[in-house]
Amino acid sequence: MARRRQIYEGKAKILYEGPEPGTLIQYFKDDATAFNAQKKGTISGKGVLNNRISEHVFTLLQGIGVPTHFIRRLNMREQLIRQVEIVPIEVVVRNVVAGSLSKRLGIEEGTPLPRTIVEYYFKDDALGDPMVTDEHILCFGWASQEELHDMADMAIRVNDFLSGLFAGIGIRLVDFKLEFGRIWDNEYSRIILADEISPDGCRLWDMVSGEKLDKDRFRRDLGGEVEAYQEVARRLGLLPEGADSTVLDLEKHRQRKGS
Ligand code: UDP
Repeated sequence: MARRRQIYEGKAKILYEGPEPGTLIQYFKDDATAFNAQKKGTISGKGVLNNRISEHVFTLLQGIGVPTHFIRRLNMREQLIRQVEIVPIEVVVRNVVAGSLSKRLGIEEGTPLPRTIVEYYFKDDALGDPMVTDEHILCFGWASQEELHDMADMAIRVNDFLSGLFAGIGIRLVDFKLEFGRIWDNEYSRIILADEISPDGCRLWDMVSGEKLDKDRFRRDLGGEVEAYQEVARRLGLLPEGADSTVLDLEKHRQRKGS
């Protein structure tokens, strides 16, 4: 295959030029980072699982009318996406206290929240992605009032939908992070969901055992990272049933199906 032009390399993904103008190819790596990239590692097979999980979730979200950048999955590690202008804000949605919220306010992890919290973080690695309010976002022009409203609205819709989806497979959606992008149509722009939705950017706890099925396994040195991601994929119906599905099995299964 001809060498494609690399547009951007992030911590867990690479973006390449797409086959048509306005498209990109999003490649999922096995690299994992935590604590603002102070901790680095590889989770063998993670990229394959995240590509598949994110494809599934974005397709379901599109089905309920949430606009996303996802076009189609191309192969085990790549998907075709729409090129967007990334809004430099990470939108975090929380249903249960965990992670930075627990640390910052001294509230025990696992405490259910009486109402969903939406938080914003400014995407800047050098600054460690500081938390900001809508006032900062508007003041510094990172997004307009209308865009902010659209992002918050979509974040709540995504949360409602995903909370139900995961509850149906015995998983509690504790919190997650979303990123949005702008697409232009002449002088008008609109906001669509971008990036990925996978156990890298969500906290997913087994409803019965409380077991963590997400990147906290890596952050907190719990081990069993790939098995946890596989378990999420398996419960979502994305892995062949029966066999103890290693990622290799998954690769073989897809190759046989020619996808
Ligand atoms: N999150 C993420 N990327 C970030 C920061 C957070 O995907 O750069 C996700 C994280 O996986 C969790 C949620 O957002 O599901 C809330 O994370 P938190 O603020 O607790 O930060 P943490 O202490 O986990 O870095």
